[in-house]
Amino acid sequence: MQLNPWGSESIKDYDKLTHEFGMQRMPDLGIDNHYFRRGIIFGHRDFDKFWKDFKAKKPVSILTGIMPSGPMHFGHKMVVDQCVFYQNQGIKTRVLVADVEARTTRGTTKEDAERYALEEYLPNWIALGLDPKKSVIYAQSNYGVPYYSFYSLLSGRTTLNEMQAVYGELSPGKIMSAMVQMGDILHPQLPDYDGPSRVLVPVGADQDPHIRLARDLAEKEHLVKPAATFHRFATGIGGSKMSSSKPNSYISLNDPIEVAVKKALNALTGGCNTAAEQKETGGKIEECVVYELYAYHFMPDDKELTEIYRKCTSGEMLCGECKRILREKVEKFMKAHAAKREKAKKQVEKMGVFR
Ligand code: SF4
Repeated sequence: MQLNPWGSESIKDYDKLTHEFGMQRMPDLGIDNHYFRRGIIFGHRDFDKFWKDFKAKKPVSILTGIMPSGPMHFGHKMVVDQCVFYQNQGIKTRVLVADVEARTTRGTTKEDAERYALEEYLPNWIALGLDPKKSVIYAQSNYGVPYYSFYSLLSGRTTLNEMQAVYGELSPGKIMSAMVQMGDILHPQLPDYDGPSRVLVPVGADQDPHIRLARDLAEKEHLVKPAATFHRFATGIGGSKMSSSKPNSYISLNDPIEVAVKKALNALTGGCNTAAEQKETGGKIEECVVYELYAYHFMPDDKELTEIYRKCTSGEMLCGECKRILREKVEKFMKAHAAKREKAKKQVEKMGVFR
């Protein structure tokens, strides 16, 4: 198995993944958040140490990135939800706009990256609950001198062989992008920023190569190894891989309400061939994208979700009725979100991320 942080993976076997890459399974730390409670965050590296440091009031922070090169969809929302959760706990939050990476690995122009960041991503992040006043938000192309000197220095602390062992095939653009990311993950520990402290990076499992290289480099630089959590991938609407190049495979946070509802109603279900059969056997809930949408995004209340599970698997409820509930949830969410996003746009204008 090879994880590719520059191409989206579709991983089904999370046990195999954690075993092969030496990730740790997420223990039950009693964290009251649905991503933890429901096992959507399935693995980690040193998250237990991060959480212990946080509880002991030691300096900790989280860091995450925005890739400004395409529409923001509900797969991206998973990281935002986690960041907002940590920020609400009082944890320092850094959000980087990966405009250099967008250019070197995806060919996104500077103008397009700025437009995506300012008009699409940041307003959506704020609408989802990120407080920009309590966050450090920076663009890779427009940040402090110590950060630039640091990632240049880091490039001399690894070899091409070491990088290939982590990433597999590499191009100059990917090498450049990886080194900038190393600067992102490790720079909070420099004396110019927070100093030595544990930094948590919540990511999808495909980003683990960056985490492994950052942890190796931290050791070489006598820094605290960064921690990471890994969450499951969001399944595409039709049941296959979600892909930014296939708009019907995802719901965008910017989709008009009627488009978002239409996509949600087209989501793959675990319904049987006939109503009679489904009443008899119950739905195949583990194959159902509608249920995943509930579990990840639209039903944070466990009681409500458990009731859907019970009614589906017992055959008491059929997919038509279930989708009527989804329609209401999606409409309500998208309407409220669009209003918050419009307000957030005014805040973003004043932030000067690229100036
Ligand atoms: S009843 Fe709902 S949860 Fe069950 S398979 Fe149908 S759509 Fe999915």
